[in-house]
Amino acid sequence: MPSSQKIEEILTCIKDCSPGQDEFYQAAQEVLASLKPLLDSDKRYLEENILERIIVPERTIIFRVNWVDDAGKIQTNLGYRVQFNSAIGPYKGGLRFHPTVTLGTMKFLAFEQIFKNSLTGLPIGGAKGGSNFNPKGKSDNEIMRFCQALMSELYKHIGKHRDIPAGDIGVGAREIGYLFGQYKKLTGEFEGILTGKGLNWGGSRARKEATGYGSVYFAENFLNKYGKSLKGKKCAVSGSGNVAIYTIEKLYEMGAIPISCSDSKGTIYQEDGIDLKALKVIKEIHHESLEKYATVDCKCEYIPVSKYPEGGHAVWHIPCDVAFPSATQNELTLMDAKKLKENGCILVNEGANMPTTPEALKFIRENGILFSPGKAANAGGVATSQLEMSQNASMAQWSFEEVDIKLRTIMQNIFKTAYDTSVEFDCEGDLVTGANIAGFRKVADSMIDQGSI
Ligand code: NDP
Repeated sequence: MPSSQKIEEILTCIKDCSPGQDEFYQAAQEVLASLKPLLDSDKRYLEENILERIIVPERTIIFRVNWVDDAGKIQTNLGYRVQFNSAIGPYKGGLRFHPTVTLGTMKFLAFEQIFKNSLTGLPIGGAKGGSNFNPKGKSDNEIMRFCQALMSELYKHIGKHRDIPAGDIGVGAREIGYLFGQYKKLTGEFEGILTGKGLNWGGSRARKEATGYGSVYFAENFLNKYGKSLKGKKCAVSGSGNVAIYTIEKLYEMGAIPISCSDSKGTIYQEDGIDLKALKVIKEIHHESLEKYATVDCKCEYIPVSKYPEGGHAVWHIPCDVAFPSATQNELTLMDAKKLKENGCILVNEGANMPTTPEALKFIRENGILFSPGKAANAGGVATSQLEMSQNASMAQWSFEEVDIKLRTIMQNIFKTAYDTSVEFDCEGDLVTGANIAGFRKVADSMIDQGSI
């Protein structure tokens, strides 16, 4: 059967077997479509039914999480862990706490994680987990009780050689602390079963910064390839969480000017550059909305989301040279992509997971804007998580500079792998194809080596 027909067959099967899981379907469609040149050049993947096997998670765990709120009432949420593929190493991938979390979200993120982890060159399989719990407006004690309740089930399924979760949206240092404490209480073991831990109890320096820094390193590598650099470039950044904040920090270090940030309520535009110190205080210490930023910095413009009721996003309508979508999935639409092109943007560098809609991605690829897919550009976070695991295994703690140098090298290698693969398959600079093929090939070859497991 021709590869294109097989891909269509598999996509139909996903639609039929996973109704309502639109984000998973979107992620699978993007990956499978870009594998065609590889499938045509090496028949083993179709002969060994790799596509049929790789789109089904090895294990999906869904569980009830009961916890007690401050009023003494029992609340119930759903907990998930999708252990998608362990062909090249133990499962690894973050935990997300957000009210929009569904099984489809978890499957899309875990599926992307397989290829991202493979691209890092490190021995880690793909997984993702989390809950539809909404941390916003909850007290510290409520967050703690929720994390303890979630771990009371999750601990049965993870382990330092089995599955090592980390943070993601809504899960930062505070949540990882509560989760780790509960694991230790339940098992009596002090082990590296989570990454993103505190520096006093097994964490790695530069883990907090790694995804944002890595995203900027990736963009710089890409621009350098075409004789350009980030120096002096106006950069639009979306989000104001972990990835966005450390993207902004590294952009300043590279001599670029980060002119925006955003959250679910609005966008800050500041032509002379975002005040990073003020942003960190508002978001990392007080967990407040960006409306607050506008009250402390009067040189900026605050644009509430209500200004774009038709679905565009203010952040992408600001003239910029490089765009760093770093908030959430499908946050950059076709309308936004057209605006970026009109304003002369030369590179869209995904810090978030799948922030670009399929229509926007098609437009970007057809209109000569360079594009760094998230599974390559934001892989610095998981790569540094693996460095945390290495430090835990050897009871060592490396300096910030040591970790940062390793991160820089890993990002350079990821870029090279994706770029060289694009050249190998006659689509030089198409990093969607390059990253998907390179990530897939290593996992698929390992699955073939390991037989019909
Ligand atoms: P955080 O929770 O720290 O920050 C998320 C940011 O995105 C917040 O500013 C949040 O605003 C905003 N946001 C979330 N949902 C929406 C929405 N629907 N519309 C507009 N803004 C929204 O998460 P991270 O920074 O850790 O993660 C950001 C992205 O990067 C995610 O896609 C994640 O999967 C990806 N990623 C993260 C890694 C990491 O190491 N943390 C590693 C690799 C990828 P608000 O506060 O108002 O909700």
